[in-house]
Amino acid sequence: VKLQQASFTISAPDIRRLPDDSGIEVAFAGRSNAGKSSALNALTHQKSLARTSKTPGRTQLINVFEVADGQRLVDLPGYGFAKVPLEMKKKWQKALGEYLEKRESLQGLVVLMDIRHPLKDLDRDLIEWAADSELPVLVLLTKSDKLSQGKASAEVLKVKKALKSLNADIKVQAFSSLKKTGVAQATQVIGNWLSA
Ligand code: GDP
Repeated sequence: VKLQQASFTISAPDIRRLPDDSGIEVAFAGRSNAGKSSALNALTHQKSLARTSKTPGRTQLINVFEVADGQRLVDLPGYGFAKVPLEMKKKWQKALGEYLEKRESLQGLVVLMDIRHPLKDLDRDLIEWAADSELPVLVLLTKSDKLSQGKASAEVLKVKKALKSLNADIKVQAFSSLKKTGVAQATQVIGNWLSA
C-alpha cells in the first residue's frame, strides 16, 4: 500500500452520499484543529491533499481519497467546535455513530488528539463507539513537537492506560506532522488495515 498515491475522489455532504460501501476504508476523525489535515498531508507525503487550518466549525464535508482501487482514506469533519449549534452537533454525532456501526468497508479508525489536550468527552465517546463496534483504533497524539520527548512518552503511556479498560484493539502513537514523528509507524498500521 502506498499512501503517497492517495488522490482526492469526492466530497460528500453526508454519510449517505459516500462512495459504494465496498473495498476497504480507513477513517480519520478528531476535534477541529487537532491537526487532522496536517496529519493526512504528512501521511500521504502531499503538501495540500487535505486543506489545513480551515475556518473551524464551518459546515464541513466528508472528503474521500483513493489510495488504490477499492482502498480509501476518509476524512471526517472535525467535531467539538464550540460555536456549532447543538442541533447540528447532535445530527453529526448520530450520523457518525451510524457510519461507525454500519459501514462494512470501514476497517480502521484513526483518532487524532492534540497531545496537550487528549481524551476530551467527544474523543472518548468516539473511541468507545469504535471499541463497541470492534473497530481497530489508532490514536495519534498530534503536535508532539510541542512537548519534550520525555513528556510526550509519558502522555502516550497515560492515554494507553486510560483506554486499557475498553479491552479493545487500540494503538497509541505520538505524532508530529512538523517533525514527521510517528509517520512511519502510522503508515504501517494504516497500510495493514488497507491491505487486510
Ligand atoms: P485540523 O482542523 O484538525 O485539520 O487541523 P490542521 O491540520 O488544520 O492544524 C491545526 C493547526 O495546528 C494549524 O495551525 C497547524 O499548523 C497546527 N499543527 C498541525 N500539526 C502540527 C504539528 O505536528 N506540530 C505543530 N507544532 N503544529 C501543528
